Amino acid sequence: MTGQRTFSHILFDLDHTLSYYPLSTAGVVAVTFDRLRLSLEPFGSVRDLASRYDALWVALERDAGSTDELRLAVWRRLLTERGLSADGLAVRIAAKYGAVRRANGVRLFDGTRELLFDLRAAGYGLGLLTNGLADGQWEKIRSLHIEHHFDAVVVAGDVDVYKPDPRAFAVLLDRLGARAPTALFVGDSYEMDVLGAHAAGLATAWVRPEGTPLPGNVVPLFAFPRAVDVREVIL
Ligand SMILES: [Mg+2]
Repeated sequence: MTGQRTFSHILFDLDHTLSYYPLSTAGVVAVTFDRLRLSLEPFGSVRDLASRYDALWVALERDAGSTDELRLAVWRRLLTERGLSADGLAVRIAAKYGAVRRANGVRLFDGTRELLFDLRAAGYGLGLLTNGLADGQWEKIRSLHIEHHFDAVVVAGDVDVYKPDPRAFAVLLDRLGARAPTALFVGDSYEMDVLGAHAAGLATAWVRPEGTPLPGNVVPLFAFPRAVDVREVIL
């Protein structure tokens, strides 16, 4: 589609926008418990355990110094919440979980690399803004070999300001020498990406499954099921 060029910069979220884990949290939990010959019985279903794991991860992330430390803190909490004596067991589970997660890696969604290449070729400045701890996010960025596609990369843990705080977006804009009104932010989280970018004065593109209802009053400029669909509206 051809359209009037209104943006100088296209900025992206990383997790679940450009990249995904081929093995879900539930999958990693299942493999971890199987390898350690532990029963999932005290935790109810693997799905319940995985969803609590993901919630605790986000809740505890800002107080952790590293990804390994965070993973251990999450497992300690999960075990004590079930009245299980935590320490040695938490260390074993967290270490195995980390090994399984690493072994299964992280991948780019199909067409992502081509999209970044084509956007650059079309003259857009490109930025990446990802929440999370510095060591874990940089490990992902390096394993995906995507850093060279961007003019600036900001990891929240490095600057100690997390989306949806508008200051996180301001840090990236500043590094790019870009202005909010001519930047489009593409992300999958309505709360972190759409609301945060909107509060910082950027236009937004919300990556969500077709038919997902709008959870709030802020209406993104674009909404589509895959980040690569951004090419249909700006290239
Ligand atoms: Mg995301």
